[in-house]
Amino acid sequence: MDDRIIDPSALNREPHVEPADAEESKEVKAQEALLHDVDPSLASADEVAEALNVDTHTGLSSEEAKRRLEKFGANELASAPPVPKWKKFLQQFQDPLVYLLLAATAISLVAWIIEKVNAAPGAEGGEALPFDAIVIVLILIVNAVLGYVQEAKADEAVNALSEMTAPTSNVLRNGRVERIATTDIVPGDVLVLGEGDTVPADGRLFAAASLRIAEASLTGESVPVGKKPETLEKAKALGDRSNMVFNGTSVTQGTGRAIVTGTGMNTQVGKIADLLQSTEDDTTPLQKEMNHVSKILGIAVCIIAVVVLVALAVLEGFHSVHDVIDSLLLAVSLAVAAVPEGLATILTVVLALGVQRMAAHHAIVKKLHSVETLGSASVICSDKTGTLTRNEMTVERVVVPSGEVELTGTGYAPEGDMVSLNGDAVPENIAQEVYATLGAGTLANDGELREGPKPGTWEIVGDPTEVSLVVAARKTHADKRFHHFTRVAEIPFTSERKRMSVITKNDTDSGKLTVFAKGAPDVLLSYCDRIFVNGAVRKLTEGDRQDILKKVEELSREAYRTLGEAYRPLETASLSEVPGIRTNAAGDVSDISEQADVIEHQLVWTGMVGIIDPPRVEVRDAVAEAHRAGVRTVMITGDHPLTAARIASDLGIIEQGGKALTGDELDSMDEKQLDKATSEVSVYARVAPEHKLKIVESLQRQGNIAAMTGDGVNDAPAVKAADIGVAMGITGTEVTKQSAKMILADDNFSTIVAAVREGRGIFDNIRKFLRYLLSSNVGEVFTVFLGVVLAGFLGIKNPDSVGVTVPLLATQLLWINLLTDAAPALAMGVDPTTEDVMNRKPRKLTDRVIDGAMWGDIVYIGLIMAIVTLIGMDMHLSGGVFTDRSVDALGHDAQMVEARTMGFTILVFAQLFNAIASRSHLQSAFKGLFSNKWLWGAIALSIVLQLLVIYVPWLNTAFGTTPLPPMAWLECIGLAAIVLVASEIRKIFLRMRATH
Ligand code: ADP
Ligand code: MG
Repeated sequence: MDDRIIDPSALNREPHVEPADAEESKEVKAQEALLHDVDPSLASADEVAEALNVDTHTGLSSEEAKRRLEKFGANELASAPPVPKWKKFLQQFQDPLVYLLLAATAISLVAWIIEKVNAAPGAEGGEALPFDAIVIVLILIVNAVLGYVQEAKADEAVNALSEMTAPTSNVLRNGRVERIATTDIVPGDVLVLGEGDTVPADGRLFAAASLRIAEASLTGESVPVGKKPETLEKAKALGDRSNMVFNGTSVTQGTGRAIVTGTGMNTQVGKIADLLQSTEDDTTPLQKEMNHVSKILGIAVCIIAVVVLVALAVLEGFHSVHDVIDSLLLAVSLAVAAVPEGLATILTVVLALGVQRMAAHHAIVKKLHSVETLGSASVICSDKTGTLTRNEMTVERVVVPSGEVELTGTGYAPEGDMVSLNGDAVPENIAQEVYATLGAGTLANDGELREGPKPGTWEIVGDPTEVSLVVAARKTHADKRFHHFTRVAEIPFTSERKRMSVITKNDTDSGKLTVFAKGAPDVLLSYCDRIFVNGAVRKLTEGDRQDILKKVEELSREAYRTLGEAYRPLETASLSEVPGIRTNAAGDVSDISEQADVIEHQLVWTGMVGIIDPPRVEVRDAVAEAHRAGVRTVMITGDHPLTAARIASDLGIIEQGGKALTGDELDSMDEKQLDKATSEVSVYARVAPEHKLKIVESLQRQGNIAAMTGDGVNDAPAVKAADIGVAMGITGTEVTKQSAKMILADDNFSTIVAAVREGRGIFDNIRKFLRYLLSSNVGEVFTVFLGVVLAGFLGIKNPDSVGVTVPLLATQLLWINLLTDAAPALAMGVDPTTEDVMNRKPRKLTDRVIDGAMWGDIVYIGLIMAIVTLIGMDMHLSGGVFTDRSVDALGHDAQMVEARTMGFTILVFAQLFNAIASRSHLQSAFKGLFSNKWLWGAIALSIVLQLLVIYVPWLNTAFGTTPLPPMAWLECIGLAAIVLVASEIRKIFLRMRATH
């Protein structure tokens, strides 16, 4: 590979992956050619911009970007080629059971050949064709096709999800910032990076403010590194190229702009990364438990088979090869009977369908797995702003040292006025202080208010808290008074600092610098030592301080979000002359955001605003529903404790007058005190993101399954640690979304509760079809086992012959397991959720899916099924308890065909009655009998299938069946219905026991 741009020795690791094919290598060459001989880290930003033919003020045009996308290809790492369809189809056969069945086929083929060979020439030599073998192979193929189709459907659902969670990035195009799919980024694009963004391509910085980037994924360096646009003197190792940003790393702080120098495989990760492996394994605990259950069933059946075979050998003795083969066939039937073949596929499909349904309701679950965990959540920790509240901020009150005013108007429309509380005109001294407060608020501000596409509509860009100040300033025209200040530096807002400030140049006062700051008033106030009152600045007294804090509490108690404003004239036009400031060797102030201590002190307090952020109306009900379901709601916010407590009690999270715990209080606790606190307290205020992690870990220590929401980059550790990390779809950063298990497309708390409900419903449904499918298997095992053991008693054994007679054929059992059982099981997977899902405590994750009570159901129903099946068979045999002389003329072999058809059909119908019964462990099947129309459709389908196998002649031959007389149908249905009756009786007993 031609590597002119990047010096290979500078790479931490040698590139060892060649581009996957010629196509790609062409793209890489084209990208490199674009840069000619420019090493972007050694060239100036202007040179790079010129080489890549882009204006850094406007970015590329859409047309140019489109052209480049065609030329250079999508910005993605080459992934392993998808598994071809034929391979996926063949994978359906990779299953121990299938191997077993193939062995069975081989055995029955051998049996058929032996029979053929042994038969006297010209005499009837058994069947004309090896039907058993053919049927087993056909069933396996049909099963593989069904499995393949279902799996494809599940895959489709998962792909649709990953499309919904596909990363997007901000770039400058056509002169404005646009959010585009990361794969559409091309060389020459201008990246607009902000805190929490994942860097989507390699790029050369040309602007940066306090930019820090975590590059661990690329260099292994765990501490985020500072980045600035300055050109490097000489080539450096990756980790030291401070003017470059690299694909796959993440912005932990600050902002920056960079020109894309490489995309896709032509980035540093592209060069060192192996081809991305296709999606990782996602076996859920449930699937693991299913595998476990199948294994146990397999072992159990082996034991049963050995016992039966030994018993037969001792009692009857093997007289011929034929006997041995018959016994082996019996063992195969038993194995087939015991293993729930269709279960794994049905499970995947049901999960995938559930996940699809959730996505339609704004809860995007990234892994099928999480559906189970969701239903078990016992605590939901939620941010306040935007999740519990609407994040539609309006400044309603401005409190200044000389008094207080209200602002009229609603929403973001900058239409309204300042009025005093008693309705009089606002006195001039108060107005002056309001202007100063709102002016400082708009200068220390990154928000933007834009007129929408339709006149009279307004759009906001940035943090709603900040935009609310822009709106307030526009209403009072305070903004006009501060036009002559232009920003030169910023110390950004973080949830830890709870304040931000900017340094501005006064254009009318020989460029003198002024600091403007805003932040949580109680925090900001501690950095103030003066106050602006009645048009003059004076010392801030202890009395002033108390007055202000009292006012903060007053506003907070009324649910206002409070924000204080302050400023400080620096009396110099040069930053490096500010007393105490640290400069580098060249005499420049390089990293102002690290020097908040010298900038944000000796501030002059101007006043504060009270911002209203109405709670989301639907959240109150959601909190109550969660509460009923044994799920506690916990609010975690950076806001004032009184604001938090007020909103929490308005939403029903805590009692009226309840208290919030603060971050400081959390810090002072040891582990034991912390655990005690988190078990009781449901509101946390003035916390930093690190506290979120503490809270989650403490809750988990106490056995909780915790959900935790997050948006900012610093929330990522807590979101990752939570059992269910929830990222905000609208306000969430890319980094948080990547660490989350679920994304809330609408940022709404109620969506989490709805997802919990859905998760529980899906889990219930899974239990329903497990109960259903497994009782079928247990019924079949009992039938075969008892049929062999009691063969003489029931008349199954021909008194005139020796050897074994299998009660049911392996092909018949396969038919039930793979065909007639499948549709009802699937339909049960989409059973409508019952009212009571949110009326019980959350399930513990450690609880078995199939608990003792359910095994009780399974064995009980299985036993009844076997008994009615064997009775039905006996009724059509001349021997046994129910002796039917009318069939005497048929001879035992023909009798057995009819008896098997009876047994076969009774089992199928018993399963259909069982489908109706299995929808609830306790509740009568007749409650909501018709609420699942899919189930009735599935039952009809199974009946049709069974009629086919009984009345289509060639299927008769294939499955060893015979058409049944009308009377026999009455017997079949009557006997099968006993399963439903027995289940209802058991439920009555269980309900009686439950109420005692
Ligand atoms: P939350 O997201 O839980 O509402 P934040 O961390 O956003 O909490 O805010 C905590 C406090 O910091 C707020 O109560 C407010 O006083 C202050 N604050 C919020 N946003 C800003 C901002 N953009 N600039 C300055 N201060 C802010
Ligand atoms: Mg916030």
